[in-house]
Amino acid sequence: MSSPHETRRVFLKKSAAATTFLAVADFATFATDPAVSVKTNSSDSRPWYRRALRWGQVNINERDPQRYDIPWWREYWKRTGTQGVVINAGGIVAYYPSKFPLHYRAAGLGDRDLYGELAQAAHKDGLAVFARMDSNRVHEDFFHAHPDWMARDASGEPYRDTGLYVTCVNSPYYDDYIPSVLREIIERSHPEGFADNNWNGLDQRSICFCENCQRKFHDKTGQSIPRARNWDDPVFRQWIQWNYERRLEVWDLFNRVTHEVGGPDCLWAGMIGGVVSAQCQRFRDCRALCERGEIMMLDEQVRVNETGFQHNGEVGKLIHGLLGWDKVVPESMAQYQGGRPNFRLTAKPEPEVRLWMLDGFAGGIQPWWHILGAYGMDRRLYKTAGPLLRWHAENQEYLVNRRPIATVGVVWSQQNQDYHGRDNPEEIGEHPRRGWVNALTRARIPYLPVHADNITRDADKLSVLILPDLAAMSASQIEAVKKFVARGGSLIATGDTSRCNEWRARHQRATLAARFRRHSGTVANAAQLSATHAAIARPHCRAARRQRAACNWRTPSRPEKL
Ligand SMILES: [Zn+2]
Repeated sequence: MSSPHETRRVFLKKSAAATTFLAVADFATFATDPAVSVKTNSSDSRPWYRRALRWGQVNINERDPQRYDIPWWREYWKRTGTQGVVINAGGIVAYYPSKFPLHYRAAGLGDRDLYGELAQAAHKDGLAVFARMDSNRVHEDFFHAHPDWMARDASGEPYRDTGLYVTCVNSPYYDDYIPSVLREIIERSHPEGFADNNWNGLDQRSICFCENCQRKFHDKTGQSIPRARNWDDPVFRQWIQWNYERRLEVWDLFNRVTHEVGGPDCLWAGMIGGVVSAQCQRFRDCRALCERGEIMMLDEQVRVNETGFQHNGEVGKLIHGLLGWDKVVPESMAQYQGGRPNFRLTAKPEPEVRLWMLDGFAGGIQPWWHILGAYGMDRRLYKTAGPLLRWHAENQEYLVNRRPIATVGVVWSQQNQDYHGRDNPEEIGEHPRRGWVNALTRARIPYLPVHADNITRDADKLSVLILPDLAAMSASQIEAVKKFVARGGSLIATGDTSRCNEWRARHQRATLAARFRRHSGTVANAAQLSATHAAIARPHCRAARRQRAACNWRTPSRPEKL
């Protein structure tokens, strides 16, 4: 691996001026010595969450208290140049002797403080520590002690998952219990922050009818919890929004606790994903969360056939576009065979891991190796991350805190995903945007994802906006697009773009149609639109043509080539 990496590094340095990314500021100084302490580097006054660029995680299981070889892993941290570690602490399973009797301890843990030992070792080695929580399910004894904290279906039965009981996001489990656990962990081990694997409670497909939900929803709206999923029901739409707001309340509450007990730099960072429809399912408002976040822990571990390697770069640009390019977005990158097939004890082939990680680096994502269990018989698990992290360290000046140069923006929003995609979010919500993204990528046309509420802020550097079947648009979003066109921007729209308001409840037919020279009713898909540039609003993609020429790319003569 060293040879191609060296070649690539030299290439990058020689071509820095021509690269499509621009390093905008001096950043971390770990390049010459990846092991320089994140916590004790007195020459750098920036907070840990701007300096810890390379992360790692052993996802501890209940057999690990008996077999965790901490000295071996400390050597691994050093060998890979890891600067921060994510360590399982509490939630479903506690890996420390919690004072809360219902906080289930890992089998075989006894009074051992495995999490605390690892946190202490990491701090001694100069690494930052994220205490990892898993705040969403409990064991049988907890259920019997607090039956009113559990999520319940329409018949009153508790929701179950993997044999455990799912807690309700509107219950004191989130308001009181988890904050108490966070306090305990901070006081015991002083982690830099918290990540949480599954902090958002039930997803959109499961309506909770517990007493807490019924009371809070009625207090907020004067309505009863909707009995069924019906996107045409305004109460169901209220329920959707109410759920998004609750997740933001949880995010803010947990951060108030960590700041109060651990200081202003002690962060609760939850976790977020990169597939927009999946974030909608989990009620994670990416834009609002990124406005709050100082660092985003990204859970997008593996390539899937529907999206390909390039998806990882897309995710990096999408999250950085909301969060800011100066902030860090580590991504959990599975070193094991996750996805399909899911052989979690087996190492993923090195080329698969490498291409996934490198494409993430290209999108501004930072590495975070992820291994299941402290002891694996497939020793190939431990060979892939090191060279990639070292390469990242050697080239971080080109990989971190940079702002892409692009003149094309692809507009997206979660409201469109929810209220237009409805019960078919993948096909209606994801595919139109993914088609454009793949077409632009194959055409070597640099682009940026632009959130529909950030058009005014982000589009001033863009020449072209693409609206892929963005049917559900608010009046302010439409106004932002009109202003963009009025000052000379080009516009491409497909499908039902701008036909409805943001709730998809009221038609605004032809709201943007006047901005087009020709309005053909519906434009079915990206391929068709690409073949009918005449339908594009002024001034005909001059920037795209320039970039295309620079890339020696030719317009596909047949739409199906897209
Ligand atoms: Zn509930």
